[in-house]
Formats: sequence, structure tokens, C-alpha cells
Amino acid sequence: GYNALLLTRAEGGVAASWQPMNEAALGDGDVTVRVTHSTINYKDGLALTGRLPGMRLPLVPGIDFAGSVLASSNAELAAGDGVILNGWGCGERHPGGYAERARVPGDWLVKRPPVFTSAEAMAIGTAGYTAMLAVLALEDHGVTPDKGPVLVTGAAGGVGSVAIALLAKLGFRVIASTGRSGEADYLHGLGATEVIDRAELSSARGALGKERWAGAIDVAGSHTLANVLAMTQYGGCVAATGLAQGLDLPMSVAPFILRGITLAGIDSVMAPKSKRVRAWARLATDLDRGKLAAMTETRPLLDVTALAPEILAGKVRGRVVLEVE
Ligand code: NAP
Repeated sequence: GYNALLLTRAEGGVAASWQPMNEAALGDGDVTVRVTHSTINYKDGLALTGRLPGMRLPLVPGIDFAGSVLASSNAELAAGDGVILNGWGCGERHPGGYAERARVPGDWLVKRPPVFTSAEAMAIGTAGYTAMLAVLALEDHGVTPDKGPVLVTGAAGGVGSVAIALLAKLGFRVIASTGRSGEADYLHGLGATEVIDRAELSSARGALGKERWAGAIDVAGSHTLANVLAMTQYGGCVAATGLAQGLDLPMSVAPFILRGITLAGIDSVMAPKSKRVRAWARLATDLDRGKLAAMTETRPLLDVTALAPEILAGKVRGRVVLEVE
């Protein structure tokens, strides 16, 4: 047996309890992992507060985990290998990472790049791997440092913090948009060259604005994403990763047909393995580990239920590693 945080339906919502589980409760798959670390992402916050649409309960939450292979009948993985899991429905439909053990199809796992410990892999987590996917999308659409600055919204959050560190290392000037003006020093420390107030972007404005950035990574959606697109330079690209402001996108087609802007959609959950391997390889070379440490806090797994409402309220800065063992 093993222990896990089990989320169940309860009066008025959901309840989570740390409890012994038997092997039969593991998910389907050919690889069993000893989980040493997990993390909390925005989506975990939704799950733990009973607000994640389509979640199947009772279930072990946690969309990410890292650890080592305990048993494998997958040809590419052997006992002892360091592995990372991001998404694929874990913590939504398949038992997730808030447990001492997890079982998944081996194809879902990425081998942990040797430069990272399991704790560092979870400091990155889905948020950081998504930031990397967004940076790759900008690169693939020709956004290079000579074209102009790149905007990052939700700058003090998880995706935003990792995106800033990556872009700075790649030589971009980074404009950080945040609702937390008190975090300006933190954002400059990660490599932001300019910090703006997210209120500048959060309400309805014109169909086109002054061209201010060559590209952007957005976590907010809604009016923020509409304004970010309206203020992107001719030929630029915006990677959309999130809905922290809202799921809507109230805008006109003007930025697309008058400025040739590209809106690149980013999905981390079902991204094919080749994309994940590429992203993790680039994280290994392009993410400054000192900056990763500076944006990360380490907490015991059971603190996660208290962290859930905090991350949804935008109060968690950077990333949180959860120690499972
Ligand atoms: P997070 O750490 O909570 O960061 C979100 C940040 O957004 C907050 O810290 C805040 O930053 C900003 N924010 C909050 N409310 C806002 C509002 N009303 N308007 C504008 N900005 C607001 O969460 P995360 O884990 O980085 O995830 C960020 C978003 O990306 C979430 O919507 C998440 O669901 C999504 N996501 C999507 C994928 C994917 O596969 N597409 C993967 C990972 C995450 P400031 O305080 O600095 O303003």
C-alpha cells in the first residue's frame, strides 16, 4: 500500500484527506513511479476547491509529479529512472501526483534531464513547461530579440515567472505586466527590464493600439489578451496560455488582418511527447537554476489545501514545490 491525498465530494463542495490506499487504486499503465515531489498549478487550485469542470471524483489530485521508476514493463523505462509527468489528465480523470505512488502509461513520462533534481523539475512543473512551450511558439513564429521587447502578463505567477527568466536568458527585453507593484524588485531580479501595471491592459480599449511589443506570452485571456494583441507590432506573435482574467476574448479581427499578428494557442495537457521532450531539453539549457530557486518556495504536500484558494486569488508568487516524502 501507499498513502495519497484523496479528493471526494462533500456537503457544499469537496473534501481532501491523506489516507492509505491499496495497489488497486493506482491508475492504468505500465510504469509505477515512486513520487518524491509534486507542485501546485492554477488548475490544481481549481481541482482542490471543486471548481475544475469535468473532474472525476473521488480522485487523487495533482497534475504534475516527479520521482523514480519503481516497476516498469515499458521498453523505454527501467527501475530507478528519474521521470517527470505533466498533465495527460492526471489529477483530472486519472489519479494524480498528490500520492506516494502513481501508475501511468510510460509514454506519458519524460525522462528527467540530469541537470535537474526531482525538486527542480517540480519547481518548473506544468507552469514552467508551459512557459517553455510559449517561448518555443514565439521562436517558431520568428520573434527574435532584435525585433523588439516581449510582454509577459501574470508576471509574478508561475507561468509568468518562468517565462521572464527564459526570455531574459535568451536575450529578450522583457516587459512584465503585474497586478502586484510590490513585486517589481522580484520581477527585475528574474530579468524583466520594465514592469507595467496590469490595469493598463484589463479593460476594453480600441481595436488597435500603439505597437509596443514584438511578441507576448499571456496567461490572462479576456480583455487583457485582446489588448495585448491590439498593441503587438506588425508581424508579431502572441502565445495564449491561460484564462486568469477570463475565458472570453472580446476583440475584433483588426490585429490579424491589418497587422498580420499570429495568435498561437498553447496546450500543455495533451501536447505530443516530441514537443515535451523538446521543451524539457530547452529548459535544461535555457533556464537559469539560480533564478528558478529564487522564484520557488518548498512546502510539505499537505499544505496544498491551504495553498489552493491562495493560487486562485493570485496570491502565490512564482512556484511552489510540494515534498511528498
Ligand atoms: P498563477 O501562478 O496563479 O499565475 C496567474 C497570474 O495571473 C497571477 O499570479 C496574476 O499575476 C495574474 N492574474 C490573476 N488574475 C488576473 C486578472 N484578473 N487579470 C490579469 N492577470 C491576472 O497560475 P499559473 O499556474 O501560472 O497559470 C496561469 C494561467 O495559465 C492559468 O489560467 C492556467 O490555467 C493557465 N495554464 C494553462 C496551461 C495550458 O496548457 N494552456 C498550462 C499551465 C497554466 P500578477 O499578480 O503578476 O498580475
